[in-house]
Amino acid sequence: MVCSRGDSEEKGDDMDVRPSGIHHVTAIASNPRANAEFYLNALGMRLVKRTVNFDSPDVYHLYYGDRAGNPGTIMTFFPWPDAPRGRIGAGQVTTTTFSVPEGSLGWWAEHLAALDIPITRPEERGQEDVLSLRDPDGLLIELAASTDHHDTDPWDGGAVPPEHAVRGIRAVTLTEQEVEGTVEMLNGHLGFQLTEEAPGRLRFRTDTTSDGVGTIVDVLAVPDSRRGLVAAGTVHHVAWRVPDIQAQENWRQTLVEAGVEVTEIRDRNYFTSIYFREPGGVLLEIATDGPGFDHDEPLLELGQALKLPPWLEPRREQIAAHLPELEVKR
Ligand code: ZN
Repeated sequence: MVCSRGDSEEKGDDMDVRPSGIHHVTAIASNPRANAEFYLNALGMRLVKRTVNFDSPDVYHLYYGDRAGNPGTIMTFFPWPDAPRGRIGAGQVTTTTFSVPEGSLGWWAEHLAALDIPITRPEERGQEDVLSLRDPDGLLIELAASTDHHDTDPWDGGAVPPEHAVRGIRAVTLTEQEVEGTVEMLNGHLGFQLTEEAPGRLRFRTDTTSDGVGTIVDVLAVPDSRRGLVAAGTVHHVAWRVPDIQAQENWRQTLVEAGVEVTEIRDRNYFTSIYFREPGGVLLEIATDGPGFDHDEPLLELGQALKLPPWLEPRREQIAAHLPELEVKR
């Protein structure tokens, strides 16, 4: 896709469509069924797409989200059955925090206890009411009680009653040995605002005009932390959202001009993507809001059938034969 550069006046408008929040978080898992059972049965999310890793179609790509898989609610996994356990550490998104309704953490504590899933309540989070837990591969996740979720559409067909259901991704936490370059990337290049500062923790807002999901980025400064190793149980990347491919192309150009190494625009079928790294090593993506998950199957049927992009359809039989069973026990 080739888009012409706008003149400076147009560029001024483009800056208004800066990445306005988290689009999705993608992590690595091992057993796909254990992964699906956890995100469907324990977290009550909806499987909004059952597809494959487009770059390696012998592996699933599973997308979980709200009813429609709205940007800001999407958590995705590459479950490599034989993946070794990775190490959560510096240069990674070390925690993904989901938003749940205020007053529902008591319900969640009981629900998770009934499933034998251990939880802790991190002390250092000040006023925030948070439960911390791990998925079957050790991925660190949190549930935070908040009111930031008016813009999502919780899944009411799952294992969690809609009044308690996960609303979306509230925040990501990046752990860094040095924060200077990361701050320059988040604030200087992407335009995120530093809104809170505590010892060792900086809080950025991707969009200070919105109180919707996915607007918080916490950066932890841990100078003596070990570097993370990306494998099962770790986050692969976090994507920020832009409304359309024109905004994405403009952002690509802006980053290139700032000296950032950015990929070409890649077609992910449900959105298009560009990828780049921040100086601390975390892989970042900018993804478009559309075309969305109902572009190749009806909204009511999301996630039930194996969906492939047009360029992999000719190989469907061979691809399907190599994928493991994905029958989820309810
Ligand atoms: Zn992605």
